[in-house]
Amino acid sequence: MIKKELTSLNISPIERGTSTGEQWFSAGEILVSTSPVDGNDIGHVCASSREDYERVLNIAFEAKRSWADIPAPRRGEIVRQFGEKLRARKSELGKLVSYEMGKSYQEGLGEVQEMIDICDFAVGQSRQLYGFTMHSERPAHRMYEQYHPLGIVGIISAFNFPVAVWAWNAALALVCGNVIIWKGSEKTPVCTIACQKILAEVLADNELPEGISSICTGGADLGRWMAADPRIDLVSATGSTRMGKEVATMVAARLGKSLLELGGNNAIIVTAHADLKLTVSAAVFGAVGTAGQRCTSTRRLIVHKDIYNKVRAALVDAYTQLKIGNPLESQNHVGPLIDHQAVESYLAALKEIEDEGGHLLTEGGIIQGEGYGSKCYVKPVIAEVANHYRIVQKETFAPILYLIRYEGSLENAVTIQNSVAQGLSSAIMTTNLHEAEYFLSHKGSDCGIANVNIGTSGAEIGGAFGGEKETGGGRESGSDAWKVYMRRQTNTINYSGTMPLAQGITFNL
Ligand code: NAD
Repeated sequence: MIKKELTSLNISPIERGTSTGEQWFSAGEILVSTSPVDGNDIGHVCASSREDYERVLNIAFEAKRSWADIPAPRRGEIVRQFGEKLRARKSELGKLVSYEMGKSYQEGLGEVQEMIDICDFAVGQSRQLYGFTMHSERPAHRMYEQYHPLGIVGIISAFNFPVAVWAWNAALALVCGNVIIWKGSEKTPVCTIACQKILAEVLADNELPEGISSICTGGADLGRWMAADPRIDLVSATGSTRMGKEVATMVAARLGKSLLELGGNNAIIVTAHADLKLTVSAAVFGAVGTAGQRCTSTRRLIVHKDIYNKVRAALVDAYTQLKIGNPLESQNHVGPLIDHQAVESYLAALKEIEDEGGHLLTEGGIIQGEGYGSKCYVKPVIAEVANHYRIVQKETFAPILYLIRYEGSLENAVTIQNSVAQGLSSAIMTTNLHEAEYFLSHKGSDCGIANVNIGTSGAEIGGAFGGEKETGGGRESGSDAWKVYMRRQTNTINYSGTMPLAQGITFNL
């Protein structure tokens, strides 16, 4: 289905999944990438063995010295060239993302656009790695701080954003003077290879050494090698909270640095002052876009009792109009789940909702028949539930929207919203200024992202992205997220000719 695109991205039917740039090698087991769109094989990828991993680390260890010696704006120029190559390959890479992951072609293109945007951002950032200067309390002393590269940044990423999350990390880590080693999801290995080939081309064109950008292919064990490895100065891990807890523990045991971007349980509060049209459009896209497989997908809708019936009726009506099918065809709104395991989790969640006393407002189930041969297509569901149900407290990576009623003040709705373990994205739909400001105040949402009259998903790269509590606390992408990829050093210079001590302490020899 995407033969032309694979050829243009220089992807062969069998690929080696370990690379340090121009060198490609691999002696691990063979992974078969199967498209959830139609169940066909996309390619075979040879995973990384422990020896392959060691070889990558040794090459990266050498490369980190020479890369850090290159001035930051010059590193930015390399990232600029990478962004240009992505612009030229946007449609092919977008299509591969869509076919391997199952999101719509529009969203596939959007993911590549995000890569381009973060490259642009990082190019500017490469001239703005600013530290403060301070006035010393001692005469004829100068104090300032500066930021140095960390060394090797390891990136572990999830299947649902198979290219953008790597690019967020890669573009900033590179301009900050680090070399990168990426373990993409074992569910989307062809996307990982395609990205590495594009970046490797830029590095080769500039006659840069091996090891500035590397990839390894494999599952959780490979991720564990990275988490436990003291040669990796920062482990940036995106995925489930279960994975994050394991990675955090392993990195902490060696007192290393980690950046965690984990699961969400995102809610939209719909107050009595909400604009109904905006609400329905935000909620439906948030809940069914990417078939509910975004970390920022809308999972819960917390609706004031005065407009509850209206919102419920409008949502059910909107769901009857949803077209489910091949995500490469533009008329379809909802594509497949990633694999059969995800379908099983969706079905188990539906059962659990009913077992706990919830009520399904739309029928769930797997869609059968022509065009659904991969058996990964499911019906999006709306369920009336209570927030404390065990299933509602969990993140189910599927198009299931929980409808929850609240009464009284906005404070009650905020309490419901914040009463989950995760803290990624949140939103309020209201035309009332007091409600909007309360929601954004310290008494309001406890999430890393809080929006007004916009849904929970679809962040722009300019802001820092991430969440609190079991979402892991990390921030990536825009604002000052670059600082996590560098080490801060405070410098004090004495040009007085004497040796005064801080705090006025005297010490006479
Ligand atoms: P996952 O946790 O199963 O896997 C993510 C990555 O971690 C994969 O590369 C996997 O091989 C690796 N991994 C798994 N167990 C590991 C371990 N013990 N040690 C080291 N590495 C390990 O997640 P997934 O199913 O690929 O993705 C869905 C999850 O990712 C959802 O929870 C979603 O919310 C989350 N996510 C979060 C963000 C964010 O920015 N907060 C973005 C995208 C996805």
